[in-house]
Amino acid sequence: MVFENITKRLSVVEKDMNLNEKEMGLLLNHKKISKAELEVGGKKFSAWRIIHSDALGPGKGGIRFHPNVSENEVKALSFWMSLKNSLAGIPFGGAKGGVIVNPKEMSKEELEQLSRAFVRAFHEHIGQDKDVPAPDVYTNSQTMAWMLDEYEKIKGHHEPGFITGKPLELQGIALRSDSTSKGGFIVLKELINKVNLSKPVSVAIQGFGNAGMNIAKMLFEDGGFNVVAVSDSKGGIFQDNLDISEVIKVKQEKGTVTEFDAEKISNEKILELDVDVLVLAALENQITESNADKVRAKYILELANGPVTFEADSILHKKKIVVVPDILANSGGVIVSYFEWSQNRAGNVLDEDYLKDKLERMMKDSFSRVYSIFSKSEFDMRQAAYILAIKRILAAEKLRGNI
Ligand code: NAD
Repeated sequence: MVFENITKRLSVVEKDMNLNEKEMGLLLNHKKISKAELEVGGKKFSAWRIIHSDALGPGKGGIRFHPNVSENEVKALSFWMSLKNSLAGIPFGGAKGGVIVNPKEMSKEELEQLSRAFVRAFHEHIGQDKDVPAPDVYTNSQTMAWMLDEYEKIKGHHEPGFITGKPLELQGIALRSDSTSKGGFIVLKELINKVNLSKPVSVAIQGFGNAGMNIAKMLFEDGGFNVVAVSDSKGGIFQDNLDISEVIKVKQEKGTVTEFDAEKISNEKILELDVDVLVLAALENQITESNADKVRAKYILELANGPVTFEADSILHKKKIVVVPDILANSGGVIVSYFEWSQNRAGNVLDEDYLKDKLERMMKDSFSRVYSIFSKSEFDMRQAAYILAIKRILAAEKLRGNI
């Protein structure tokens, strides 16, 4: 259960930050939990939209379509969004949505109906000043386009800032498509500079969707990295100096990296490879107390949300394996979503190079604030990031008179 990981982590933060009962109550309890049963083709699908905190601004967070979605998972994901948005210094609270569905078993028409049904069920709770959705696992810019269209039909006016991650024609921004990976890549390079890791840096990547595939491409094109393994839900491949541009072609043509001509490796074994950096870009709970001891990577970059459990964190910390936490490593996506939202609200179109620079500056700033606490204390990087993020949320709650 993912949210239990958070409560365990928060009990440690509680001691380190000397938090009182009221402050802990605000962190542990969600501001609004909305649930609905969506109906498509006579079948019912359970769906949630949950706001964890809106102290810093409207809720913000993606919508996931996946068979393993649960209320507990959406609660955890919305909590992480609150912390991620706070750490990044953007004016958003944290929220998330999810539907229990296997999109691989649905036609395009059914996915459209499901996306529209989601908006019909939750339109009163979402909006540019209330709660702003975005894509997550198995949802994409097309899903956002259907949702925007349904929302604007219901409201009777244009409101592109209601949702981010939209196609360009519907006021999305080009930077959004690979911004999560770009942010992770910037942070990874900062870390490598700090610890003087010699090049080429060897990397294994679990997950080859939006986050995993795009970072693989960036690492490959950079020239200073040797990507030795990648995987998706069907399994992985393992080869020195993988030609990522060819792997991407195979993934796009055949639907899985395992069709690429290279040694096969399981998703369990990819986590145990002797590499400099392990990038986790699939789902939560991948490194747990049962396999943390087998991890041989020196550094872990969490592009996925919650891929390392609370118990695994302390095992890795004892082994001196540094984990760059999700709320820092994958915040590039929501930072660019913020650019998209603010452009939409102002009716502005900002220069792409300016936004690229801004993303880089914001990622470097977050990294250096977290690294500074981490390097001067006994805390792991996650604890350092949590402390910074929680301080800002609680300061806002205090100013509002809630504590
Ligand atoms: P996606 O749907 O594009 O890709 C998910 C990938 O993971 C696919 O390649 C899938 O085959 C693979 N996968 C699924 N189960 C797996 C398993 N057991 N082992 C190995 N691979 C597996 O999703 P995404 O947008 O890339 O998101 C991946 C993770 O990154 C999620 O945790 C998501 O919350 C997080 N994230 C994504 C973004 C974003 O902007 N895309 C932003 C922040 C966080």
